[in-house]
Amino acid sequence: MTIITLPPSCTELLLNHLGGRWTAGTGDATPLFDPVLGTELVRVDATGLDLSGGFEHTRRVGGTALRALTYRARAGLLGAIGKVLQANRDAYYEIATANSGTVKNDSAVDIDGAIYTLGTYARLGDALGDRRTLLDGDATPLAKGGAFGSQHVQVPVQGLALFINAFNFPAWGLWEKAAPALLSGVPVVVKPGTSTAWLTQRMVRDVVEAGILPPGALNIVCGSSAGLLDALRPFDVLSFTGSADTAALLRRHPAVAERSVRVNIEADSVNSAVLMPGAVPGSAAFDLLVKEVAREMTVKSGQKCTAIRRIFVPEALYDAAAEAIGARLAKTTVGNPRNEAVRMGSLVSRAQLRSVQDGLATLQQHAQTLFDGRGAALIDADPAIAACIAPVLLGTRDADGTDIVHTTEVFGPVATLLPYRDAAHARALVARGEGSLVCSLYGEDGADSAHALADTALDLAASHGRVHVITPEVATLQSGHGNVMPQSLHGGPGRAGGGEELGGLRALNFYHRRAAVQGSAAVLGGVQASA
Ligand code: NAP
Repeated sequence: MTIITLPPSCTELLLNHLGGRWTAGTGDATPLFDPVLGTELVRVDATGLDLSGGFEHTRRVGGTALRALTYRARAGLLGAIGKVLQANRDAYYEIATANSGTVKNDSAVDIDGAIYTLGTYARLGDALGDRRTLLDGDATPLAKGGAFGSQHVQVPVQGLALFINAFNFPAWGLWEKAAPALLSGVPVVVKPGTSTAWLTQRMVRDVVEAGILPPGALNIVCGSSAGLLDALRPFDVLSFTGSADTAALLRRHPAVAERSVRVNIEADSVNSAVLMPGAVPGSAAFDLLVKEVAREMTVKSGQKCTAIRRIFVPEALYDAAAEAIGARLAKTTVGNPRNEAVRMGSLVSRAQLRSVQDGLATLQQHAQTLFDGRGAALIDADPAIAACIAPVLLGTRDADGTDIVHTTEVFGPVATLLPYRDAAHARALVARGEGSLVCSLYGEDGADSAHALADTALDLAASHGRVHVITPEVATLQSGHGNVMPQSLHGGPGRAGGGEELGGLRALNFYHRRAAVQGSAAVLGGVQASA
């Protein structure tokens, strides 16, 4: 008798899109799981893809077609992509619930954040008009009388943009990069973080099937990153989001180190929130800090690169702040995101849960636990299966001597409270993060306070991509410490990776080459007329 062994898994194998066709990997596929229920959802595999041929098709077919369009026409494509995503929004929310374990509000940060970002770039791009080249400043004379001069221009790079993305933003992480790339006329290959690749793949599938973009303009490789960097050529660009360790590997790869592939890195970051000197418990600034810290710790279960990890308060307010933040965190119900009573879902995987538990245990050796929500039962979720963890607030009065709290990013609902003596001490402690994505400041209204806040913001600007200043008069208008707005810069120096994304049309710089054209006034006039 012949015994037929059935494959252990029968979930859908997601296809890759490269070289103008949808292709299944030929190796052992990697399963993606529901992090709350533990069930297998789909599988991914990139084995056997012709990366070199696919990348060449992307450059030649996708790049040529995109560059033939004007900025306004490409802006129109972004608007059309936004409509496709809007039409399929319900399916994306279902995938996010199943694969990322997020409650609806947290899925919105990713999905609606992506749609909003596309819409913003569609508007910005439309204003660039019907041209294919951007001028960079005015012509400068290089000879007496201006008969010979120099005009700087920005032209789209004639390569592809490879995005290697993190697991925490499968939707926004694609479109916040793809919107400026496509608007610039540069075709895209995205490799999403594997554990949550389903949502990215579904969005790419919907957009490709809608036939909006020219063939070759949008591609996806799901699964292993093996061989992706080897296939890059000198005019390609690489945009990476993820851990500092992987970033270091990419920086050393011959594509970057020898072939000068332009690279942008968004890595981890130990972001801060600072309550300004002179605040008192119960003041508006105090309450705003407490509210924002609790929100930041719990949105997406703390899996935001911009989340607040260090909280600095005047030393006299240490106990009051610990109590107030703890009281807010105590209201956070944790468990199955399908249950209406749940405010915070799960981490993206059991592997992430272990990583958060390990990081937390390390920090707990150096800091006190001021609030620990882990005593409460999970709602509708089995702790032996679900990747859920409740928020934990740590603290130490020795902010100077506890180096580890300034250098450790626990990628979950964990933050550390730290006291400071005076304004100079607070700034010095914030700088111990060695470069972060964002710092938020909390102060009162009024001229003196505004002066101190502006002064502090400018000082911290040297070590941050963004300084978010909250005062009572903007309390209901402000966009949120951790929310990345497409109009504002995203990225930070030092350990945050040294990258720059978004910031309105500034994002286009990464996807363009600046060059100087030198020639007669007539030649420069021709360059200006075509731009
Ligand atoms: P990660 O392990 O570095 O992975 C990031 C991406 O790199 C994934 O797509 C991963 O693929 C891929 N990758 C892993 N090893 C690689 C290699 N040797 N060569 C090429 N690609 C490789 O980071 P993560 O754990 O997914 O993400 C969490 C981290 O990202 C956190 O530290 C967070 O702070 C940071 N982050 C930063 C930002 C920002 O904007 N600054 C935003 C979000 C997250 P696989 O998934 O297949 O391993």
